[in-house]
Amino acid sequence: MDALDQALDEARARYVAARPRSAEAQAEAARWLPGGNTRTVLWFDPFPFRAARAWDCYLEDVDGHVYVDLLGEYTAGLFGHSDPVIRETVTATLADGISFGAHNTHEAGLAAEVCRRFASMERVRFTNSGTEANLMAVAAARAATGREALLVFDGAYHGGLLSFAHGPSPVNAPYPVVLGTYNDVEDVERLFAEHGDRLAAVLVEPMLGSGGCIPGDPVFLQRLRDLADAHGALLVFDEVMTSRLSPGGLQALLGIRPDLTTLGKYVGGGMSFGAFGGRADVMALFDPSSGHALPHAGTFNNNVLSMAAGLAGLTRVLTPDVQQALNDRGDRLRSGLEQVFRAAGAPFCATGCGSIVGVHATPGPVRTVADAGAADDRLAELFFLDLLECGWYLARRGFVALSLRVTDAHVDDVVATVARLLAERAPLWEQPA
Ligand code: PLP
Repeated sequence: MDALDQALDEARARYVAARPRSAEAQAEAARWLPGGNTRTVLWFDPFPFRAARAWDCYLEDVDGHVYVDLLGEYTAGLFGHSDPVIRETVTATLADGISFGAHNTHEAGLAAEVCRRFASMERVRFTNSGTEANLMAVAAARAATGREALLVFDGAYHGGLLSFAHGPSPVNAPYPVVLGTYNDVEDVERLFAEHGDRLAAVLVEPMLGSGGCIPGDPVFLQRLRDLADAHGALLVFDEVMTSRLSPGGLQALLGIRPDLTTLGKYVGGGMSFGAFGGRADVMALFDPSSGHALPHAGTFNNNVLSMAAGLAGLTRVLTPDVQQALNDRGDRLRSGLEQVFRAAGAPFCATGCGSIVGVHATPGPVRTVADAGAADDRLAELFFLDLLECGWYLARRGFVALSLRVTDAHVDDVVATVARLLAERAPLWEQPA
């Protein structure tokens, strides 16, 4: 066993010893849920702690540990755990009844606000998740073009049924896909030359989120726009994660107008949410008043909690100034981490954009999925467990999405903690002279 294995074993043992109640809850849950889990991404070894309550940007587990929540519910928790406007809105909405089975007075307001913010979204429809939003966008593109295949990218994540994290997932929806290499212009030119006439859509995250917070190269993304136009395919931007990066999403920062866009996460104010929208002519395919529309079903598509909380969040909380400050804070975190990684000579780097930050256990730079794949998973796990022990919660894979409740002081504090941990762990990567 080498020194890193030993450090990891000790960190895991400390984690387990400090969490007897979580261990008990895990054992009980595993009697009913496979692995005690109902959302794969939340799993980590030895077992995930059980959160008992949350407020502002804090989480407390059933064993009484309090963590600063830097994970921000994988971007859905942008408003934090107890935003007063969201709470008031939800409470007031509940007072008028929960589920109507009818059009309500909230949905058009949220639709108007979404279309106002995201310029390419001339019309929008709501779903219950980002996964569903992407499935519907794909369905729209296939119906609009009369073609079947999709161009997607290795390392991309568009939901549980459209995941290409390590090639296509075995549980993916059975669409014919052409798998490209993210940020590789020559590769997509070749793929369009070969398959362009059968592609309904290019489905792409303008920054790979789950795939390592790898920003799309603007030249690459613009080339996708041009190639989609030249070959009659639709360009679909999956902005389920990246829409938070400016009031108009990452597409506004890039100056690229996709045909369709998908949203999710925070846009529902922290309630379950998804949306797909874009060109009015394509979205008109779903207009039931036309008499020959494509169906778009979903019992909870217009549920009053998501509609009302989403509208309140976008209009009363996430003003452009607040959104800018949040993304500036993310930039501060990323550059702070980069500085301490370099100063410590530690084999880590930070990626991302604005309030979304990725930490990789490799010196980097990480510009491609292959670069991210070069990370040392044992070091990544140790980094995660060390930070958890110090009271900081991020995703096991090194993913951070700041909420509005995380302050500059939190950011400076976690950067200082990382600097201290790296100094302690330096013998693991420093070669003896
Ligand atoms: N698309 C992207 C880019 C995502 O990051 C996610 C979720 O993490 C999804 C789609 C799926 O969204 P949901 O989990 O709401 O189904």
